[in-house]
Amino acid sequence: MKMVFTELKEHVDLIRDAFPDDELIIFDHPLEEEQLIDIARDAEVISVFIYTPVTERVIDSIPSLRLIDTRSVGFDHIASKHAIEKGITVCHVPDYGAHVVAEHVFALLLASARRIPSADAFVKNERRFDFSNFLGLELRDKTLGVVGTGKIGAAVIEIAKGFGMRVVAYDVYQNKSLAMKYGFPYLHLEEVLGKSDFVTLHTPLTPDTHHLIDATAISRMKKGSILINASRGGVLDSKALRDALTSGHLWGAGIDVLEDEAHPERDLLLDSPNITITPHSAFYTKEVLQRISQLTIETVRSYKAGSPVNRVPSEYL
Ligand code: NAD
Repeated sequence: MKMVFTELKEHVDLIRDAFPDDELIIFDHPLEEEQLIDIARDAEVISVFIYTPVTERVIDSIPSLRLIDTRSVGFDHIASKHAIEKGITVCHVPDYGAHVVAEHVFALLLASARRIPSADAFVKNERRFDFSNFLGLELRDKTLGVVGTGKIGAAVIEIAKGFGMRVVAYDVYQNKSLAMKYGFPYLHLEEVLGKSDFVTLHTPLTPDTHHLIDATAISRMKKGSILINASRGGVLDSKALRDALTSGHLWGAGIDVLEDEAHPERDLLLDSPNITITPHSAFYTKEVLQRISQLTIETVRSYKAGSPVNRVPSEYL
């Protein structure tokens, strides 16, 4: 069986060893549409990470394709609906430990609330100890608005409770047992935005969530609040966020994802004030890489055995 892996840098030997009888073609970088079509022309399996789009054209150009696997939680870079309609199985990593992203959310929130990146740069550049430009905000007794209470949103809520925060949440699906366990209400999105001192986004990127947080939504947020986005760049309108940071409506923002991550140099947010940006690294821990490799092997093995696991959830297609 011919399998093409892109963006695979870690545990290459582990994956090769798991499929000794198959032809594995492995790239440590993303492939563009044309390159992927050319290289995977007679492949049965394509396994990618987030920067190799598997478009309708890719799918239509590779008649031998039977399994598309993305080694990520998000699968908005895969034309999943089209693939599934053509009888191709689409799998992802359903959960490599939601706490990983949740921990990074708090790193971004604390970095923004306490102005950590600029304080660090000041001390190192100026070689002076002067706290006067780094007035911070506390987390305890503040309200955290969680938009999307799936696996990552739930892990964020658990940590928030440890910080002594109140939580309010919005989701199209209300998880009653989660709300009961952590004692928070589900509200309309507008109310969540209006009541929260900090808002964090955890929905997938779908046609419904594209620019869910736009200029109108941001104008509903409290003055002096903080917005965190570690979901997908497209959930948030970058221009609206840039304007809210420039006008001082928001205290700050913590961002792990951009609207166009292939061209970060063009992104408006890079030059915005009071923003902490990380390069889609919320998931990227030593422990996660091991779990992703194991889940990838499990997905491909289960496909070869005739009953694939880790299929993408059909409700988002
Ligand atoms: P999940 O499927 O467990 O949860 C998503 C939640 O969003 C669900 O509760 C769902 O009901 C809700 N939702 C869907 N559409 C909605 C809408 N229109 N309005 C409100 N809520 C809606 O997913 P998860 O594991 O919590 O991951 C969430 C997202 O985080 C992923 O889709 C992915 O894009 C992103 N992610 C980012 C990183 C990173 O490194 N930055 C890592 C993993 C995942």
